[in-house]
Amino acid sequence: MCGIVAYIGSRHAHSVILKGLKRLEYRGYDSAGLALMNGNLSVYKKQGKVSDLENYLHEVGQDTLHASLGIGHTRWATHGEPNDVNAHPHYSGNKELAIIHNGIIENYDSLRTELINKGHQFESETDTEVLIHFIEDIKKHENLSLEESVRVALTRVIGAYAICIVSASEPNTLIAARKGSPLVLGLGKEKGEFFLASDATPIVEYTSDVVYLNDNEVCVIKNEKFTIKDIHTELETAPYIQTLDIELEAIEKGGFEHFMLKEIYEQPKSISDCMRGRLNAETSTMMLGGIREYIDNMVDANRIIIIGCGTSWHAGLVAEYIFEDLCRIPVEVEYASEFRYRNPVINPGDVVIAISQSGETADTLAAIELAKAQGAIVLGVCNVVGSSIARASHAGSYTHAGPEIGVASTKAFTAQLTVLTMFALLVGRKKGTLDEAFYQTLLQEMDEIPEKVEKALELNAHIKYISDIYKDATNAIYLGRGHNFPVALEGALKLKEISYIHAEGYPAAEMKHGPIALIDKEMPVVVVATQDSSYEKVVSNIQEVKARKGQVIAVVTEGDSLIANMADHVLEIPATNQLLTPLVSVIPLQLLSYHIAVLRNCNVDQPRNLAKSVTVE
Ligand code: GLU
Repeated sequence: MCGIVAYIGSRHAHSVILKGLKRLEYRGYDSAGLALMNGNLSVYKKQGKVSDLENYLHEVGQDTLHASLGIGHTRWATHGEPNDVNAHPHYSGNKELAIIHNGIIENYDSLRTELINKGHQFESETDTEVLIHFIEDIKKHENLSLEESVRVALTRVIGAYAICIVSASEPNTLIAARKGSPLVLGLGKEKGEFFLASDATPIVEYTSDVVYLNDNEVCVIKNEKFTIKDIHTELETAPYIQTLDIELEAIEKGGFEHFMLKEIYEQPKSISDCMRGRLNAETSTMMLGGIREYIDNMVDANRIIIIGCGTSWHAGLVAEYIFEDLCRIPVEVEYASEFRYRNPVINPGDVVIAISQSGETADTLAAIELAKAQGAIVLGVCNVVGSSIARASHAGSYTHAGPEIGVASTKAFTAQLTVLTMFALLVGRKKGTLDEAFYQTLLQEMDEIPEKVEKALELNAHIKYISDIYKDATNAIYLGRGHNFPVALEGALKLKEISYIHAEGYPAAEMKHGPIALIDKEMPVVVVATQDSSYEKVVSNIQEVKARKGQVIAVVTEGDSLIANMADHVLEIPATNQLLTPLVSVIPLQLLSYHIAVLRNCNVDQPRNLAKSVTVE
C-alpha cells in the first residue's frame, strides 16, 4: 500500500520522483504529493492520480521545481479520506520538517491528544501528520538532533511504517526508516546520489545496487554518505548491498493496453521461468535449492498449514488438494488475517507455507512471526526477491514470475501453483506416497503446461465476444468442483475486483444449498467443467442451472461435445492431469474478467479502493 520515492543527487529530484511514483502507482493511487528542497521546503500535493499531481506541477511551473533533494508519495488512505489535505507529504507544525509514510501509526490517537494539549494544531486527519509533529516535539523539548529525534520517536510509536523525512534546516539530509513496510535504498552510480523507494521499480533504470532496509533500521543520508542504524540498539549495521536482476522492460507495458493483459499473456513464460533449472522432465529430476534442507520437515510433518490472503489464499486451496493427494499429509489453508488473531494450535512438526506475491503482505508477515514463535518451520513462496516474507521465513522458493504490476494478480497465481506443485512432487516422492511412474507422468505434464496455457490464450477473441454479452450483468456465479473449486473462487474474485460486478464462487454441489435461489435468466453462471473425477457431477450441476434458465459459460476440456450441447458458451482448454488443471482452467477466467472490465470502462490496472501490495493490516 502506498508508494514512496525519495531522491538526492544531481538530477532533477522532481522528475525522478514523478517517474518513480508512476511506476509505484499500482501500490496506491488516491492522492499523490511531493516535497522539494527548492530553496525552501515546498510541499505540492493533490487528490487523484500521479498524473493529476503532474498537471498541477505544470501549473506551478518548472522553474520553481528545481531541487536535488525531494520525497514523493502515492497514497492508499487508511486514516482520513483521500483529499488534498490528507495527501502526503505532511509538514511539522513549524513547517521545518516534511514526511512521507507508508503504514499505520496505531497509537496516533493518544499521541494526537497529547500533542494537542501541548498546543499542536493539525491540518489533516492522518496518523502520519501526528508522527511528524511528534518528532518535531521531541526535537524541541528534548533538544535532540533531527536524526536522534526521529530515532527516539520511532521507539515510542506503535505500528508499521516506511518513512522518509526531510528538514528545511538540513537541506542535504534525507532520513528514512522502516518497520513492517518495505523500503529499499538505491546507491546511484555517482557519488552522493541515492534513491529510496517502496520497491525497486523506480530505481532499476538508474542503478542495480540496492540495500533492502530491515525492520527497525533508520538510514541517514548526508555528506554524500549513508549510514544505517538499529533504532533500538543504536548500533550501526553493515549494509548488505545486493544487485537487482530486474530488467526495465519487465516493468513496462510492452505494447499491451494494460499491465494485466500483458501479465496474463506472460504466463507461458512465467510458468517456464518458474520451472527453469528446477524441473527437468527429460531426466525426471527436480530440485528446489531454496527448500532443500527442509524437505524432510515436510515429509515428516503431521500437518501443513498454508497461509495467504486473496489470490494467494486461492493458490493455497489448490495446493491443499495436491498435497493431500500426493503426500497424504493433512493440510489446512488459512487466511493470514484470521490465523494470526485466533490463537491457532501449532504443534512441533507442523510446517507453515506462507504465500505472498509481494512478500510484504502485512497479515501474512505477522502470521509468520506467530508461527515461528510457536515453533513451526515456515517456508515462503514469494515473487519479490529480497522481500520481507522471503527474509522472515526459514527457507522458501521464489516464483520468478517477474514484476507483477496489475493490481489483479494473474501470473503470480499460476507461478505460485507451479511452485507449490513442485513442493508436493518432491515431498510425495521422498515420502513414498507418490509412485515413480506417476511422478514421471506429472513431471512430463508440468513440462507441457506452458504450451497448454498458450493454447488457452488463443481463446482471447472468443472471450472478448462473450464478455460483450455479459458486460452489463450485476451478478455472476462461478462454480467448480475439486481442484477447480478454488479456480471458481479465483474467477469470481477477478471479476469483482476489476469490473465491480458482484460475483460468488461456489463448489458446484453447494449451489443447491442456497445460491441456486439466485439463478434466473439474467444470471451468468461460469462453470469450470473439465473432464476429471467430478465431471459427471458437474454436468448435472450445469443441467440444474439450465433448468432454471441461467446462462452457462463453461470452461471444458477440448472436444467436449456433451457440455457444448447444454451450455450457452463453451471455452475449450487442452486436457491435462486433473491435479494441474487449475494452471490452465484459470486462464479463460482471467481473460473474461479483463474484457468485461475493459468493456465497462473500468480502470483495470488500478481498480478502485484496492492496492497491489497490502502492507497494512
Ligand atoms: N496511514 C497513512 C495515511 O492514511 C499512510 C497510508 C499509506 O500507506 O498510504 O495517510
